[in-house]
Amino acid sequence: MPGPDRFSALAAEGVLGLKPYVPGKPVAELEREYGIRDPIKLASNENPLGPPPASIRAIGAALGDLALYPDGAAFELKNALAKRLAVNPAQITVGNGSNELLSLVAETFLTPVTEAIYSQFAFLVYALSVQATGASARVAPANAAGHAQALGHDLAAMKQLVTPATRLVFIANPNNPTGTWLGAGELRAFIGSLPSHVLVVLDEAYGEYVAGSDWPDTVRWLDEFPNLIVMRTFSKMYALAGLRVGYSVSHPQVAELLNRVRQPFNVNTLAQVAACAALDDAAHVMRSRQLNAQGLVQLGSGLRALGWHVSPSAGNFVLADTGGPALPWYEKLLRAGVIVRPVANYGLPDHLRITVGLPEQNERLLSALRSLMAGKAPKP
Ligand SMILES: *Cc1c(COP(=O)(O)O)cnc(C)c1O
Repeated sequence: MPGPDRFSALAAEGVLGLKPYVPGKPVAELEREYGIRDPIKLASNENPLGPPPASIRAIGAALGDLALYPDGAAFELKNALAKRLAVNPAQITVGNGSNELLSLVAETFLTPVTEAIYSQFAFLVYALSVQATGASARVAPANAAGHAQALGHDLAAMKQLVTPATRLVFIANPNNPTGTWLGAGELRAFIGSLPSHVLVVLDEAYGEYVAGSDWPDTVRWLDEFPNLIVMRTFSKMYALAGLRVGYSVSHPQVAELLNRVRQPFNVNTLAQVAACAALDDAAHVMRSRQLNAQGLVQLGSGLRALGWHVSPSAGNFVLADTGGPALPWYEKLLRAGVIVRPVANYGLPDHLRITVGLPEQNERLLSALRSLMAGKAPKP
């Protein structure tokens, strides 16, 4: 066990205020700690269909190359993305998950005398990335409870926080954990209203799930807004969370700055080949989107029938208001072999975030809750 704290006084000030990110409970941990067999995990917004078959084949074919360092320039992946998105490869930066890119952008543009803006209830990694640099976080209050996008980003409130010291604004669209989203018109007007010393990080980790005509192709906005950084990931819709690969699309000069800060081999060989293959697997994307749309309805109506409030979500998860402390429900569900995500660390102690699973997994969650609410022991 550690003795008296000898090293905190030596650490960077920003680090002392950090609380480590708490991930969803891994399946193996639940099996170990609770002795539960065959639990299901609806806690980290992973794709229940598993990786695209084309990615698995590409990984198999690349196994013989593992003695060699990966391609540090990620030539094939950047070119495949550039072609797909109709941009120049020099605009693309790949990262060890988009999480790494969020940290890289913070490291590149923030110092202890600058500021970054994000919304209350926004994805927690923004707070962590900002704080580690020693920069000041300005947190905008979220939309109020009666709003159509309750708990979502209030762009007007975010705009009010801009000062001469602002360097970054983080926006998640859709946002995790709230599932809320912003329409094209308001988002575009907001970005256009920012002064040139402010960069906008537009995190579209769930963008591929959004259905509907109001979903903007924000990469097309880059010509007009050189201060925009669009971030996407292969972890969610593309089902490669375990490999860690994401990308940003930006002005080439922004990409060049990020390239100075990143590790030379930040994205491994298997991740690069699997991501390239995933881009070509349109059928997997279609199946995933369709399954998710059905699952959102199944979970939403099922949870509402049990008396929990569920607001509309544009992602592959729902945020359920449990009407009181959510932690006891989380723990009871764990014992029933269902892992969901408590979000008290987001300031939402009366909510659970639940990832859309396969139809039978969604039903297992609902049926466990039905039993618990009826005072019966759920079948594990
Ligand atoms: C999951 C998630 C990410 C990061 O995912 P990576 O696996 O690091 O690519 C980024 N933003 C949001 C909002 C997320 O939910």
